[in-house]
Amino acid sequence: MTGFAPAKPPVFGETPGTLAARLSALGAPAFRAGQILDWIYKRRACSPDAMSNLPGALREWLGEAFDFAPNEPLLQKQSSDVTRKILQRLRDGSLVETVVINAPQEGVGVEHSRQTVCVSTQVGCAYGCRFCASGLAGWKRNLSAGEIVAQLMVAARVAGGVFDNVVVMGMGEPLANYDNLLAALRIVNAPWALGLGARRITVSTSGVVPKILALAEEPLGVRLAVSLHGATNEVRDRIMPVNRRFPLEKLLPACATFASRHGRMLTLEFILIAEINDSLEQARALADIARKLHAHVNLIPCNAVEGLPWQRPSLTRQQHFLRALKARSVSATLRREKGADIDAACGQLRLRTEKLLPNQQHA
Ligand code: SF4
Repeated sequence: MTGFAPAKPPVFGETPGTLAARLSALGAPAFRAGQILDWIYKRRACSPDAMSNLPGALREWLGEAFDFAPNEPLLQKQSSDVTRKILQRLRDGSLVETVVINAPQEGVGVEHSRQTVCVSTQVGCAYGCRFCASGLAGWKRNLSAGEIVAQLMVAARVAGGVFDNVVVMGMGEPLANYDNLLAALRIVNAPWALGLGARRITVSTSGVVPKILALAEEPLGVRLAVSLHGATNEVRDRIMPVNRRFPLEKLLPACATFASRHGRMLTLEFILIAEINDSLEQARALADIARKLHAHVNLIPCNAVEGLPWQRPSLTRQQHFLRALKARSVSATLRREKGADIDAACGQLRLRTEKLLPNQQHA
């Protein structure tokens, strides 16, 4: 099963073209599509009842034809360091996680902080990275484009209406749900919808080479982050099964192709795990890769995940690793811990909640 067919499609999957086609089948003028989308994205109407410039019959049809609330915010957890995790329940009862990260900017107040929303693209994940909670219960299904956009609309409501960046780095391998991902990102980018510039959208992948190459050909021009987590095949093989299909000798040329097509700096994500990938040899190998790709390295100390054996390296060891990269002129940051107290490693909140909740559809 690759999808789920709800009784009514989420309205957030519609575009001016698809909506105008449906309206024309009804005999309604095409300009109504623009009015409807304006209500949804600019005026943030939660239901057709609010769309006061539409005829009553059209409002009624909209309510019958589309789901205006496909994702229900079920649970929110706010961490002490301004990370907020929202568990969203989909129409079939599946749970997905969305994270809102509030990063204050230097010299200005919290009200000017940058809000980044991290969205999920699948329920569960088939990729089975050994350090990840999302892969523990396996893959259940892909999210539709409308469900992905709806996650952002829910997050925007929770986050006070605006956000500055979207990272597709939540539950699931985004490039394994390529068509729905692209359809959703085009809506996020479109001026008639959320209007978020492509430079503010980052897609993160564990290294699905053919889809990295496909994304490189997309005119949309989003940013790419690659979850490397090991600077040699030996280490990647231990913790990322995807490396058997797409080892470094395939992955790195694909990254180089992406970077040259879009002229944008890639990010290499690297979860630091004690005794697995935190040696200075790994740091040196990682520096070689980053320099060849002109990539930025984002070091993320691993979170303890219930049921998994991995430990976070000591702060001293994390800093040695960072220094080894910088000594080789690599642009690198060591991520300050965000959200450890809210099960922020991807998939943890969902797993914990699923143990407690019956898997019911929302009303
Ligand atoms: S890290 Fe990403 S690709 Fe790997 S199992 Fe977790 S969600 Fe899937």
